[in-house]
Amino acid sequence: MFGFSDHAPFPDRHVQFDRMGYDDIGAYECLMKQLAAEFPGLRIPVGLELDYVPGEMDIYRREYHECRRFDYLIGSVHQMFLGEKFIMFIQRELYGEEAMLAFVEGSIDMARHCRDFITFLAHPDVAAFHYVGGMTAKLEKAFRELGKISREENIPLEVNANGMRRKVEVTSTRRGYPWREAWEILASEGAPAIIGLDAHHLPNLSDGSFRKAADFARQLGLRIVNDELAEKILSGR
Ligand SMILES: [Zn+2]
Repeated sequence: MFGFSDHAPFPDRHVQFDRMGYDDIGAYECLMKQLAAEFPGLRIPVGLELDYVPGEMDIYRREYHECRRFDYLIGSVHQMFLGEKFIMFIQRELYGEEAMLAFVEGSIDMARHCRDFITFLAHPDVAAFHYVGGMTAKLEKAFRELGKISREENIPLEVNANGMRRKVEVTSTRRGYPWREAWEILASEGAPAIIGLDAHHLPNLSDGSFRKAADFARQLGLRIVNDELAEKILSGR
């Protein structure tokens, strides 16, 4: 199943990310309706990927789940404040355990606060992209907690195919994602997993990264729930 899930604007303007503007959300919905009309034989779920903003996520619930009623909503942590420092997983600067831990704790917090309206949590290991270091006791504890919440609340975690594409960029100093050691912990906690294509460009649809991510998940014995999640989305929640 192919759905569309652009990065959501934050409805309150005091939070600014490099995302579509809040004024554009109506145009996005309209474009998706036009697409559905153009291809009546296809069912195209329309979603959004929501950035983690500590303490502010009720706004997402009201705006995108209750009011605009998107077909599905993805929870994601792409950036964090570490004290005064703003860290993005995509930045070129490398970072250590403290930042990596903050990202995993962000995913835990998002799972707790958004469990009633997010369909799944994207790339819970994404910060490994620029993380230098190994699996530490603190990180293991955090990944274990995340896996436990994911299983208990039935919030699938995404094995992200874009990470597979990015593996080619990873040097010997960086972990990269999907991060096998993290997923071994998540698998041992029984977290359900979704394989996400995360296609940003048309050629991504057939570049083999989805198969690689699925093979990775199967090797780890993860319970893959793509089909049941697709059914849930198509049946209207
Ligand atoms: Zn993402």
